[in-house]
Amino acid sequence: MPLKVTNLKIAYKGIQAVHGVDFQAEDGKITVIIGSNGVGKTSILKGIMGIVKPTAGEIEYNGVDLLKLSSSKRTSIGLSLCPEGRQLFPNMTVQENLELGAYARSDKGVKSDLHDIFHKFPRLSERRSQKAGTLSGGEQELVAIARALMAKPKLLILDEPSWGLAPIMIDEVVSIIKDINAQGTTILLIEQNANIALRMADYAYVMDVSGIVAEGTGQQLLNDEKVREVYMGA
Ligand code: ATP
Repeated sequence: MPLKVTNLKIAYKGIQAVHGVDFQAEDGKITVIIGSNGVGKTSILKGIMGIVKPTAGEIEYNGVDLLKLSSSKRTSIGLSLCPEGRQLFPNMTVQENLELGAYARSDKGVKSDLHDIFHKFPRLSERRSQKAGTLSGGEQELVAIARALMAKPKLLILDEPSWGLAPIMIDEVVSIIKDINAQGTTILLIEQNANIALRMADYAYVMDVSGIVAEGTGQQLLNDEKVREVYMGA
């Protein structure tokens, strides 16, 4: 089990945002957490990456206690986050943004990986010298995913990749995420869009403000009447 989160609690200035969450992400699979706005999904990812410090709980990755490691050390042992809202550097080119994704690497493979990434994302290759801020929303999401891949992750963590995208672009992003997974990268993904996320999921968790309230395979949750009613407007 590469990622095991136990009783995770996160607070901001004394106000509790994550109230004791338990979940696991299995090796080679796509695990998703769905939940409405503000239930603490992004905070969980920030806790895993070391961007915020949990007030309680444990986060283990391949048996290593992540809470003892710095954020950049977590990246160098295989975790990479594609953050909410993409967070690109708008005045830097596509290529410069991608190169930043490799900041924690000390190996000599960065140049050839950049070549491979441009091969995988031809649309970005054509726009490698264009400023990231001038790309469409969908293209920016591709840069954010490609930048996260430049860290050579074993576990790729995605925060709302469908956010703000047109349906056709969502389909492209979903197919890229499935492809990355098929090539051996474990995926942890959080989404408000339950329909999209559950279709991709090998295993999924449903979260509300109190914590995880349901779990099962993507298909089981897609068939769950309560999940359909609350999260899919059915
Ligand atoms: P969304 O889908 O809207 O991003 P979310 O489920 O990812 O929501 P979080 O962003 O983790 O939720 O936020 C959970 C709660 O923590 C919210 O009430 C939010 O206002 C609060 N919160 C998040 N970041 C901070 C911060 N830096 N300082 C204070 N409160 C914060």
